[in-house]
Amino acid sequence: MAEGGEVETFAFQAEINQLLSLIINTFYSNKEIFLREIISNSSDALDKIRFESLTDKSKLDAQPELFIHIIPDKTNNSLTIIDSGIGMTKSDLVNNLGTIARSGTKEFMEALAAGADVSMIGQFGVGFYSAYLVAEKVIVTTKHNDDEQYIWESQAGGSFTVTRDTSGEVLGRGTKITMLLKDDQLEYLEERRLKDLVKKHSEFISYPISLWTEKTTEKEVSDDEEEEEKEKKEEEGTVEEVDEEKEKEEKKKKKIKEVSHEWSLVNKQKPIWMRKPEDITKEEYAAFYKSLTNDWEEHLAVKHFSVEGQLEFKAVLFVPKRAPFDLFDTKKKLNNIKLYVRRVFIMDNCEELIPEYLSFVKGVVDSEDLPLNISRETLQQNKILKVIRKNLVKKCVELFFEIAENKEDYNKFYEAFSKNLKLGIHEDSQNRSKIADLLRYHSTKSGDEMTSLKDYVTRMKEGQKDIYYITGESKKAVENSPFLERLKKKGYEVLFMVEAIDEYAIGQLKEYEGKKLVSATKEGLKLEESEDEKKKKEELKSLFDGLCKVIKDILGDKVEKVVVSDRVVDSPCCLVTGEYGWTANMERIMKAQALRDSSMSSYMSSKKTMEINPENPIMDELRKRAEADKNDKSVKDLVLLMYETALLTSGFSLDDPNTFGNRIHRMMKLGLSIDEDESLPDTDAEMPPLEEAADAEGSKMEEVD
Ligand code: ADP
Repeated sequence: MAEGGEVETFAFQAEINQLLSLIINTFYSNKEIFLREIISNSSDALDKIRFESLTDKSKLDAQPELFIHIIPDKTNNSLTIIDSGIGMTKSDLVNNLGTIARSGTKEFMEALAAGADVSMIGQFGVGFYSAYLVAEKVIVTTKHNDDEQYIWESQAGGSFTVTRDTSGEVLGRGTKITMLLKDDQLEYLEERRLKDLVKKHSEFISYPISLWTEKTTEKEVSDDEEEEEKEKKEEEGTVEEVDEEKEKEEKKKKKIKEVSHEWSLVNKQKPIWMRKPEDITKEEYAAFYKSLTNDWEEHLAVKHFSVEGQLEFKAVLFVPKRAPFDLFDTKKKLNNIKLYVRRVFIMDNCEELIPEYLSFVKGVVDSEDLPLNISRETLQQNKILKVIRKNLVKKCVELFFEIAENKEDYNKFYEAFSKNLKLGIHEDSQNRSKIADLLRYHSTKSGDEMTSLKDYVTRMKEGQKDIYYITGESKKAVENSPFLERLKKKGYEVLFMVEAIDEYAIGQLKEYEGKKLVSATKEGLKLEESEDEKKKKEELKSLFDGLCKVIKDILGDKVEKVVVSDRVVDSPCCLVTGEYGWTANMERIMKAQALRDSSMSSYMSSKKTMEINPENPIMDELRKRAEADKNDKSVKDLVLLMYETALLTSGFSLDDPNTFGNRIHRMMKLGLSIDEDESLPDTDAEMPPLEEAADAEGSKMEEVD
């Protein structure tokens, strides 16, 4: 433990150090954003202490006022920001300002390398370091209620120091950040520049921001009594009467410049949500949105409304233009809707206010009814909050429909947040059918555009009862899938669901406007057929019955059953999964989740049915061979090869790719008429060529499997 005044030196964590060099050495013209970042940190710190004080008033004792002060000092070329926020303990200082890197540190550097602007820094949670855009040295003095006052100091360059503050300066509570400006950054000492900056970037900070301003007045040297008397007269409004006399006096006196200082309040706006929507310009909303979210871009859409009656609240909700880099990072606390009670900020990430799937919506809610001393624990049962939440969800969905009125905007929105909508389908049973109208998919008929379910329905063929979809890894992987052959032939449109979350969403949606959503890859795909078609199918079924049994015997447990297919037209066969089990795609997704409980997977894991296409020449040939000799070895080998190929074309993965590879290689040799012994005598010794296997009973084929 360091005694008071003893200097401890710490190394910056490697990534932070890298970030600092980047900030210091790269040319950025947009340096001014540092002030916004520092003020935003102050505002957060003030929010924290105010929140604590709601349940324990004494937390404010050391400094009852909540404020942000800006002090330019031209003598020392330093700019100082002081807040009476929560402050930092010694360990906060060491951890937050240098030794523990946030996930955003690396991400921000990557974003910069990819051409991002420095002004995005706040979004990545490393805003503090932007001080080094303008400062060669930063000194942070801070006092937390639970610790002594400490000083953090660094000129970057790999290390920082932390020292107990024994100077005698009393902060009471809060943080003072002094930036010793680089020689070419002295513009940030100018009053005008600072005022404009606060107005531009920090106008909506809900604590008073005051600038220490200098006033130069011209004064005459006169004796004090006379001065005082004159001032008194001026106050009493007798100025005019003494004017003449005064002027005469002034001529006799020497003028000198007198410098005085005063605090000047820079942010005077009343909260935007308290104003009438019709009085607020788009620019004002944008400025508010930026200050609220640290976003460098404007919002995509906004909804400003108030609810009155039994319960009263006002809210402004924004949809950003892009998803944040950590949208689905479950470790990170969501920071979405700020909760106010009668203009007093209560908390940031109030999970009870908005469901997870809407976490990308940003904004403020100001309630007239909630108690000021509400705590996180009591929030959960709070009925008022439940009603507010319901209203917010409703308004969000309305807002999305408003965005959908403009195609270009909606494309942007959908690209960024379709996963959220799908999560909404999965989680929000009350709004499910409404959200379904917001979904868009590529399909066999949509071309480059995406289609809504509504539009799909208008295109449905006569006699088509269901809505068809196929799930898979990508558009490319599904658009030529054998599962679609029959559906395409009948002119039925099939939706491509190629996001992992589609599997979950569709599992909940089940139908749209009374029409069942049917998977093209699962059992139970029943297509309308004419009497002729039915008859022909029956005939084919009985013709291929024998082959189905032979195949089932060869494949054993690998498949549940083997049947004549309805859905393949060109391919020889496909593997479908049970109506209530996982699709091949879901199996892939589940396998990718490494820590998944394996008991679940054996239970849900796809029970496969092989569907064979009686009209495919390979199948017909197999049938003939099997009919001629049930134990034909070439049939066995071909069936296995066909099964493995169908695994791939149906979207499954191979358990044993090597055996499959060997089978293919042998086919290639066969095609190239290569003699087995000449080519790979060692590795392939166990594998006689196909024709040999076919000719010679009792060959080593068994061992291949
Ligand atoms: P962010 O504010 O996005 O978390 P920063 O790099 O700006 O990231 O700040 C890092 C941390 O340092 C903050 O999370 C906070 O804990 C602490 N901090 C910064 N400025 C202040 C301040 N004025 N008062 C109290 N704590 C602060």
